Amino acid sequence: MIDLHCHTLHSDGTDTPERLALLGEAAHLSALCLTDHDTLGGIPQFLAMQPQVKVRLLVGTELSCRFLGQSLHVLGLLVDPDDAVFQSRLEDLRGRREDRNQRMLLRLAELGCPITQQDVQAQADTPLLSRVHFAMALAARGFVRRAPEAFERLIGDDCPGFVPRDELSPTEAARWIREAGGVPVVAHPGRFIGGGFRWDDAMADLQRQGLEGLEAYYGEYRASEQKYFVTLAARLGMVVTGGSDYHGANKPGLRLGRGRGGLQVPDDLLDRLETQQRIGRYH
Ligand code: AMP
Ligand code: MN
Ligand code: MN
Ligand code: MN
Repeated sequence: MIDLHCHTLHSDGTDTPERLALLGEAAHLSALCLTDHDTLGGIPQFLAMQPQVKVRLLVGTELSCRFLGQSLHVLGLLVDPDDAVFQSRLEDLRGRREDRNQRMLLRLAELGCPITQQDVQAQADTPLLSRVHFAMALAARGFVRRAPEAFERLIGDDCPGFVPRDELSPTEAARWIREAGGVPVVAHPGRFIGGGFRWDDAMADLQRQGLEGLEAYYGEYRASEQKYFVTLAARLGMVVTGGSDYHGANKPGLRLGRGRGGLQVPDDLLDRLETQQRIGRYH
């Protein structure tokens, strides 16, 4: 089994990269790809663990795009961690995130929930602050009882305190990832625009924009969703990937490699991904 989607405390997870490598080993995975949001910051420590573990440690990241007026996540799997252009592009994305965070602090103050940059930073072990840390800061200051309530009332995608980031187009994200030697993959499509949305045409559109794979195995899918996306990928000729989206204590009950319990991502998906990495190109 493999797991091609997980996070450390370099973005919105709670484990160190070193611990994640050890957890991958303990879960008897044959490969584990680290995919923190907008950063490769945990990759050097992660790869430094390779001599100590049997699980193959792979490099990735997760970017956010704007698609059909919503946020769509794109995984950049097997990117080159030493690509300077890609690193500076990620730095630009982190700058956009900081701008958004400042605006979100102002918005929350207007809504009667004044928290400070320091309140949010106090909840994170990284300078890359995400809404997960905002939610914890809102709870720590007593504006909500618990962090999930912050997503329900204040900073969830449809809530008054949410400010979207200046996000990439799918075309741009796919090009950036390809130019860094990686494979651009649509992350957890089943989580996009609720359950009623049908992907048939939209996925073909994303494929035309340069997306080459889709995450058909996912820690939080129902069996019917997995089947639907495996079939869709086969019909479109897109590569299939899978992962848990493990975030440590920030997503309780979600286990590395196993998701909510039933996840099993087959080893041969990685062989096909590596073939795609060699032969694929963006359009
Ligand atoms: P950001 O990238 O700062 O906009 O934050 C997005 C992150 O917030 C996601 O990667 C999730 O980890 C988390 N998140 C977004 N919406 C929710 C939600 N409704 N409930 C819990 N966590 C969420
Ligand atoms: Mn996340
Ligand atoms: Mn995601
Ligand atoms: Mn993720």
